[in-house]
Formats: sequence, C-alpha cells, structure tokens
Amino acid sequence: ATMPPLLSAIALAGRHGVLVKSAVVMEQLADTDVVTFDKTGTLTEGTPRIAEIHLVPGGGYTQDTLLRLAAAAEHPSEHPLAAAVLAAARERALTVPAVHDFTSTPGRGVTATVDGRRLRVGSPALLNDLPHVDPPVHTVVSTTQAAGRTAVVVIVDDVPSGVLALADRVRPHAAATVTALTTLTGATPVLLTGDNPGAAGRLAAETGITEVRAGLLPAGKVDRVRALQRDGQRVLLVGDGVNDAPALAAADTGVAMGRHGSDLALQTADAVLVRDDLTTLPAVITLSRRARRLVT
Ligand code: ADP
Ligand code: MG
Repeated sequence: ATMPPLLSAIALAGRHGVLVKSAVVMEQLADTDVVTFDKTGTLTEGTPRIAEIHLVPGGGYTQDTLLRLAAAAEHPSEHPLAAAVLAAARERALTVPAVHDFTSTPGRGVTATVDGRRLRVGSPALLNDLPHVDPPVHTVVSTTQAAGRTAVVVIVDDVPSGVLALADRVRPHAAATVTALTTLTGATPVLLTGDNPGAAGRLAAETGITEVRAGLLPAGKVDRVRALQRDGQRVLLVGDGVNDAPALAAADTGVAMGRHGSDLALQTADAVLVRDDLTTLPAVITLSRRARRLVT
C-alpha cells in the first residue's frame, strides 16, 4: 500500500527538519493566514552578549561585583538573557555565589537571594515597582533601547544598581523567510515580543516586518493571537520560550524552536523546527498544501 499523503508529508517534513506532531497539524498548516513570531531566540539567535555594563553612580559596585550578583540570580533561569549574563561572568572568571529563593516571572525577569541580598534582574518594567529610581537610571535604559539593545536592570535590595546592555543577532535567512511567508500567505508576518519597542523596531526593520507589538507579557501575546483569530485569521505562532507557551497553545498552529526552545514550548507546540532553521517554515506550509491537494 502507498502511504497516505499526510503521513508522507510528515515524513518529508521530518527530513526537512520539521517535527510535525500529528496528521491534523500537517493538514492545517496549509490554512495558515498569518504567521506571528516571537523575537528573542526565535527571529534572533537568542545568544545575546553583554555589550556594556552601566553602573549607577554611588551604587558602590564595580562591574565585576555587580556581574557576580546578577549571574548568581540568573543561574537557575533558562532565559537566553540569563545565559548571556552567565557567559559574561565566566569570561571574566568570576566565582558565582550560591542562590536562594529563586523565582522567575516570564516576560519580566528573576528574583533571588544572593549573599544575603535581595536581587531582581530583568526588564526595566521592574523599576516601576520601586519606591525611588534616580532619573539617570531611566536615561541609561532609554539610550540603551534606542540603540536597539535590550536593557536588563539589576536591582539590589530595592536599589537600581546597574543596567546591562545586551546585543543579539538576527538569525540567518530571517528576512528571506519573512518574504517567503508573505508571498505564501498574502500577509506580512507579525512580531510579538516582550522586549522593548526600540529593539523590536530595529529587528522588524531588518527583517521586513511591519507590524510590531512590543512589551508584551505572555498573556499579551495570547490577546494578540485571539484578536487576529476574531478577525477570522488562522494564526501560526513561532516561539521558543516559557513565555510563549500560552500563545503557542492559543494559536491555531504553535511552532517551537527545537534547539533553543524551552521544554515547555516544545511540549506545547504542534510542530518543532528541529534545527532552528527558519527556512523550513515556508517549506512545511508548502508541503502541507501539496498533501492537501492529494487528499481531496
Ligand atoms: P521575547 O518575547 O522577545 O522572547 P521575553 O518575553 O522572553 O522576550 O522577555 C521579555 C523581557 O523580559 C526581556 O527583554 C527582559 O527584559 C525580561 N526578562 C525576562 N526574563 C529575563 C531573565 N531571565 N533575565 C533578564 N531579563 C529577563
Ligand atoms: Mg523568546
């Protein structure tokens, strides 16, 4: 017997490096009206590097002492920004102290106790929870973001003590993939990110994306997916993070990055780009359409 078209398509997709989890998913990929992308780790390589360490004047820290604390707090996190902080500490051969009471808030950052101090490391939105922030801190955050970088604030015992400027690289073929998906679906892909509008806008310009939603918490990504669905669009979402899991579940088709993806994203997704190769995405939609023509 010959293999049913959808199963052959799944096998072929596998050879392309796309793990499609069911025949239903293989079939519905063809119906995708609009593709939405997460940014960090999805359209970017997600291996950002610390480009600059800004100390808050009078904070009493050196770059190394601040980095030690930040690295300790980030140690249990699986976020790409956490990996960058740890890599920088390793490069400087710093010993990273033990961490207690670690908690992480997707789309915001981490909280932990290090050397008896309460550390918060993450999005500049964390500054909004503090009783007092010196104006220069906001200035450093703004200039960092205007430069297209991601600003990570380091708060020690409720005092903003430093701002880390992180730079990430666009994945190879991201722009070509956006073009291919625009041609295939007739709709330009949309960027949904927890990062700041500066970094998001820069990446959108580099990849040809025109619709950008920045500063989104995980629930905000879900809201955007649902809004598109209410407009009658069938939405495919590509993401890598724990923060993308709710949106991956809400999308008509959720696709996770295989190498970079968190376990939760991989489990929640309907399909996985095994090698993190974005070009396999338009390829698998084309495969789905071909299989559909053979089925009906
Ligand atoms: P994206 O949607 O682009 O993948 P995320 O939602 O993962 O971005 O993160 C959004 C923002 O939350 C980051 O830009 C950063 O400011 C902050 N953040 C989240 N987790 C961490 C972490 N572990 N360390 C530092 N910052 C973090
Ligand atoms: Mg991400």
